Amino acid sequence: MRGLVAAILRLPHRCRFCGKFYPIEEFVGGGPSTGYCLRCYGDLAVKIALLRGIRGCQECGASFELLTARAAGADVRMRMYAKDGVWQLLCGACGDSYERKRLDMFGSTPYQLERDA
Ligand SMILES: [Zn+2]
Ligand SMILES: [Zn+2]
Repeated sequence: MRGLVAAILRLPHRCRFCGKFYPIEEFVGGGPSTGYCLRCYGDLAVKIALLRGIRGCQECGASFELLTARAAGADVRMRMYAKDGVWQLLCGACGDSYERKRLDMFGSTPYQLERDA
């Protein structure tokens, strides 16, 4: 069993940013569904810097003020996705809808299994 697990971990991993498969030597940031290829990882600081100045959900356009009012005292939880080649910050409703459309990326990941439990 341990040998099998080791063999599976040696399989090419899928980059959560570009969605391509890479050998483990060219992969960083965790296991098969959580990490990045070296190329995307190298761009990470640049992509995160691009998030500065964002004023709300990048899908529906709701401002942080509006989302805060809608949350009625609860914390506003935004989710960050590598979507359409750039990092995007989405509100909960838009995040749910995006994750349903991208089951190829999120389906059967530890994150999805925990969320749906
Ligand atoms: Zn990549
Ligand atoms: Zn939204």
